[in-house]
This record gives sequence, structure tokens and C-alpha cells, in this order.
Amino acid sequence: MGFQTQIREALSELDAAGLLRRPLQISGPQGPEVDIDGQRVLCFCSNNYLGLADHPALVDALASTQGEGVGAAASRLISGTMDAHRDAEAAYADFLGTPAAVLFSTGYAANVGTVQALAGTGDIIFSDALNHASLIDGCRLSRANVRVYAHRNVDHLGSLLREHRPRAGRALIITDSLFSMDGVIAPLREIAELARSFDAGLMVDEAHALGVFGPNGRGLSAELGIQPDVVVGTLGKAFGVAGAFVAASEEVVSLIRNRARSFVYSTAPPPMLARAAIEALRLVHEADDARHALLENASELRSQLRALGFDIPSENSQILPVLIGENNRTMQLSAELLDKGVFVQGIRPPTVAEGTARLRLTPMATHRPEHIERAIDAFASLVQNP
Ligand SMILES: *Cc1c(COP(=O)(O)O)cnc(C)c1O
Repeated sequence: MGFQTQIREALSELDAAGLLRRPLQISGPQGPEVDIDGQRVLCFCSNNYLGLADHPALVDALASTQGEGVGAAASRLISGTMDAHRDAEAAYADFLGTPAAVLFSTGYAANVGTVQALAGTGDIIFSDALNHASLIDGCRLSRANVRVYAHRNVDHLGSLLREHRPRAGRALIITDSLFSMDGVIAPLREIAELARSFDAGLMVDEAHALGVFGPNGRGLSAELGIQPDVVVGTLGKAFGVAGAFVAASEEVVSLIRNRARSFVYSTAPPPMLARAAIEALRLVHEADDARHALLENASELRSQLRALGFDIPSENSQILPVLIGENNRTMQLSAELLDKGVFVQGIRPPTVAEGTARLRLTPMATHRPEHIERAIDAFASLVQNP
């Protein structure tokens, strides 16, 4: 069988399993409403939580960096750190209260590179079963011994530490703070306590929590009063830009700059995006009203949808998984919602476990009460015509 035929077969297998992805085409900016094929629909599936993705101040920040050009020309180890990179790293380190920070082009690159830089052969990593794919890929690339503990299960983590920690070199515990597909929060205090008593480093991925939780949006670690060794934040979600940063000690950041393959062997982020990220930080810092509106919208949606009989197993966060179970059924409901003018994405394996396909509903701070009502009406019509 020829290569092209084999590829076509792989695609039809995905299709038959209800797993073929077909991204929709969006015209114009991301916002509480978006245009799909000329139809204006409510968007309830972006991570643009604070509505900053098309904020005029960010667009202006890009326009005002013309003096530094568009491209960064090479890896920073080759053609140097530009002022915009240095300034953004200083701003984000200051924001999180760490001595240093390092910028990456994406959160995916930040996680893969950071995990691989901080642990290697002879070391051990303890990783939550539902950690983001980029953390899992970093574990694989690291060649460290990887022990996966049951989701948010501190007892299991403790017993794995007792069993495997003593024979390893460095130990690193890795967890999302707010899990991206389930909307639940890691027991960070208990995990930090275990990290301390077993002499393990703690790496927390705050992709969905930064900008939303904590004083001035400084994340769940700040809210819960813990200081992980490594905090990863992404700039493409609540911050509305693109890229990511890792905040840590000078030494940890220095080792990442020397060893993270996705830093060493990849062109640095455009200086204009680094400037926009600094402006985004200023906006996030002052976004208490937006944070409040976002969580109010989430809480209204959660209670109304539960009243309609939908199963939403998350509390106190802006990520609402509406559990459906079967893949094709989930995508069919997503299509029906879109027909009614509400864009909610279905999430299927391998992003989530087999049999737990779901509609992942994420409101924004900029959704108005009538937007929330329209979303609830659309879900209600699914129940009336099952
Ligand atoms: C989105 C996400 C990432 C990846 O960030 P990008 O900037 O989108 O590449 C990493 N970790 C978690 C938990 C995420 O949700």
C-alpha cells in the first residue's frame, strides 16, 4: 500500500471513531462573539478569559514597537537577547515575585523545554495523571524516570515519593494548577508540603489560572500562599497575546537557558510580542472587575445548566466541562449549539479519557447577561429535543 493511501486510511479510521477534527473558520478578532461563515455567534470556547485578545491597548502596543522590527532573527544564544525580551522577562519576574523569568514562543515549548532541562537520566519526575500534553511530552523528552500519580491524589503522590525518591538524583513534582479540561484545582498546599519533605522541586503550570486567580491575577500559587520552584504562565490565554514565560530562581532560569532544547534551538519570540506582553501584564494587573465578572458568568452558567440536568463536575473556576460521554454524540450537540448561535467546542480523546467526551464551556469576562441567557436557552433546547 502506498504512503498516501496509508495516510487516507489513518484519516478514515479517525473519522469512523468520531475523532476527526475540522477547525471552524473565524473571520475578524476573537471576542465574546465571533463570525463563522458570515454568521455572528456567541463564543463560549476560548481561553480569552478577560477579553484581551483584541484589546486596543495591545494592538497599540504592537504598533508602537516598530523601532525594534518584527523578527528576532535567531535563537537568543545566537543573535542575542533583545531589549524587549529583557524588559518582558523583568516585568513577569516582578509580577510573580521571583528573581528571574525566561520567555518562550509558546506554552507548549516552555513546558517541553523546562521539564527536559530540569530532569534527565537518573532523575525522577512525579506527574499528575491529567497534566497537560506539553508536560507529558517534556517528561518523555527528559529521559528521567517518570511516575504518574492519580489525579490530584496526594496520598498516591506521597507513597510514590516514599518508594522511588531515595534512589533518584533530582526529583521534580509537576502539576497543572487549574486543570484545563476539567476545571478543577490541584491541592497545591499539600503537594508543596510533600515537595519540601522529600527534597523535590515543584513545577506548577498556571496556564489557565494566571490572570484569573490570585491577587492581581498572580495565579493559584499566589492565592494559596505557596512558592513553587518553577511557575509556568502562558501569554495566549487570559493575557490575550501569545507565548509563555517560566518564573524561577536565577539558577533555574539559567539552566533552562542553557539546556532547554525548545529555547536553545528555536528562534526567539518577536520583540513586538514581548512588548505587547508587557502591556498585557499592565491590563491584567488592573483587571479585578473583569476577574469578578468572569467568575460570576461561570457561576451563573454552572447553576443554570445543572438545573437543566447537565453534569458539570467542577467548582469555582471558569472552565465548565459539560460531560456527555460518547464522541459522536458530543460533536452532534456541539453542532446543534452552533446552529442556535452558540459556539461550544466538543473535547474528545486523546485530549480527555475514553468515554468522557465533553462540551468544554468557557465564558469570558466580556459576556453580558443577555449572552449568558442565550447560551442557557440554547442548552435548554437540547434537553427539550433530546
Ligand atoms: C494551553 C496550555 C499550555 C500550552 O500553552 P500554549 O501557549 O497554548 O502553547 C500549557 N499548559 C496548559 C495547562 C495549557 O492549558
